[in-house]
Amino acid sequence: MNYISTRNPASAATLSQAITAGLAPDGGLYVPETLPEKRHLTAGATLAETTAGLLAPFFVDDVLAGELPAICAEAFQFAAPLKPLATPNDYVLELFHGPTAAFKDFGARFLAACLTRLHRDAEKPLTIMVATSGDTGAAVASAFHRRLGLRVVVLYPEGRVSPRQAHQLGCFGDNVATFRVAGTFDDCQTLVKRALNDGQLQQHVPLSSANSISLGRLLPQMGYYVHTSLHHQAARHGALLNVVIPTGNLGNALAAIIARALGAPIGQIALAANANRVLPDYFAGGEYAPQVSVATIANAMDVGAPNNFERLRWLYHEDDAALRKAFTAVSVDDDTIRETIRRRFERYGEIFCPHTATAVHVLETIRGQGGEGDWAVAATAHPAKFESVVEPLIGQPLEVPAALSDLLSRPAHAELIEPDYGVLCDKLLMK
Ligand SMILES: *Cc1c(COP(=O)(O)O)cnc(C)c1O
Repeated sequence: MNYISTRNPASAATLSQAITAGLAPDGGLYVPETLPEKRHLTAGATLAETTAGLLAPFFVDDVLAGELPAICAEAFQFAAPLKPLATPNDYVLELFHGPTAAFKDFGARFLAACLTRLHRDAEKPLTIMVATSGDTGAAVASAFHRRLGLRVVVLYPEGRVSPRQAHQLGCFGDNVATFRVAGTFDDCQTLVKRALNDGQLQQHVPLSSANSISLGRLLPQMGYYVHTSLHHQAARHGALLNVVIPTGNLGNALAAIIARALGAPIGQIALAANANRVLPDYFAGGEYAPQVSVATIANAMDVGAPNNFERLRWLYHEDDAALRKAFTAVSVDDDTIRETIRRRFERYGEIFCPHTATAVHVLETIRGQGGEGDWAVAATAHPAKFESVVEPLIGQPLEVPAALSDLLSRPAHAELIEPDYGVLCDKLLMK
């Protein structure tokens, strides 16, 4: 299968090339030339097996095709259980059982498993650049840690991630270099973009990126939606599973949307946003108008220009009317997020991270309006990762998952740098 840029249907790359490059050379996003036909999907015994079967058509003719089952086995080493909530026919799909306690572990580990197989040159390692507002950097650092032929450079905005997030970002070492940038997330992203577009630098330091536009992260995320909806359908006599997805850059939601287009028994898909309302405004009929992001307590969704939007539009043939009909998107403010976390704990003993709570609120609204059927909320992070928000609301300490407490017990180090491109280049050239 060939891959093209959303901006140029005449361009063509193999899957491996698209995964290595991240962004297409014209600044567009890689998409399959044609989406595989909607087909009768079958569930495997494990998430890894389902995903390998699902993704096989995307890997046809690629050098990685024969490796796909092994790549999936490596990436999907932890479960994504669907658990019932206290309210009838409501479920939570827990995507936070990986090493850094967020759904991004699935995509990051799949990408690492692909790139490890494509770049075995320890003499001239490939450097993966990541600008992170918190969760991505840790997932990528963990996934690439100690992989031969690869190294990771993480940039995060000093003082703008939670203390536990900061610790996770700095605790790897070895082939992972972490920098705290005296600036904003946008400053970090600008530095990374400039490096990725710097041909001269890359003659010395080959670079790639691992942000949420990477096909190597997007494709595997379909796996848990397909696996879960197929098993749910079998267990519940053919019922479709409707989903609410906490959304920032649209990577996770887009995976569900494509999974449904490929034949997964998913019903409605609702997007939950925080106070960053670019998508809700667009789906309500407004223009698509990127904004400067505003800071919220669901910080991994603080996105003013969702970077997968171009892919979503491509999927709907740039037909805005059809796109608006296909989904709803709802903005949830910080007070409502807090109120939802507090109330669900008081009433039902359920504990959600701030991102997941946006989706819980959207589901409650759907039920309040008479919404029927089985609905699942995607739980994108473990609440213990955001203890400074959640603990005061529920009035008790959170239990920390073993993998997370293991990371938190290691020493952490991140060098402080100014948001200066020359400084970054010096750092990149040093190793
Ligand atoms: C990254 C992230 C999101 C947003 O996911 P997108 O794919 O960017 O839409 C939501 N919740 C958590 C906890 C995240 O880390």
